[in-house]
Amino acid sequence: MTKNTKDGEYAFIGQRLGVVEEYLPDKNSTYADKGVIYATRSGRIYIDSHKKKISVKRFDERKRQNMKIGDIVIGMINFVRKYSVGVEVYIINNNVKFYSGYLGNVHVSQISRNYIEKIEDALQKTDIIRARVSKLKYNEVDLVTDQPNLGVISADCSRCGGPLYKTKRDLLKCEICENVEKRKLANDYGSVKTRLIF
Ligand SMILES: [Zn+2]
Repeated sequence: MTKNTKDGEYAFIGQRLGVVEEYLPDKNSTYADKGVIYATRSGRIYIDSHKKKISVKRFDERKRQNMKIGDIVIGMINFVRKYSVGVEVYIINNNVKFYSGYLGNVHVSQISRNYIEKIEDALQKTDIIRARVSKLKYNEVDLVTDQPNLGVISADCSRCGGPLYKTKRDLLKCEICENVEKRKLANDYGSVKTRLIF
């Protein structure tokens, strides 16, 4: 499964955008390593089809919106602690809010209704998750993923970075290296990517 970068799609920091044979990388928002172009910021992908230039543009900060308890958010896990993970929130109730200014936390006890022994068995760095806001404290929010529609919606292999497909409940397998990984999956894992296009 190869995913082609499309104009207007989201890019997350570090996301692979293409190769230098296809595009001219924009210096301010991308970098190229061994011929592969990556995003250095989150935002919307712009492809200048005439110049073949690829760049990532930030979203308008004025679209900032306050979060409320019960809101559904989508974000990327940017760090994993012993008992919780930190989530950079990108989307609030289906509205894109890059640089929302909100940092989400998911405590290990709020991930699943099943007991989670090790946090890495449920959530890992760079996973994209859907979660519900349960508590607000200034610009930090507590998030929960303990319902079937909540949890990981997109993840890459922790060994090789390849795409992971669902084999059974909360179990993923890498298409490339066949590494098997556990996650707390949302019930629509793997079918969500199209909804990140607008
Ligand atoms: Zn792999």
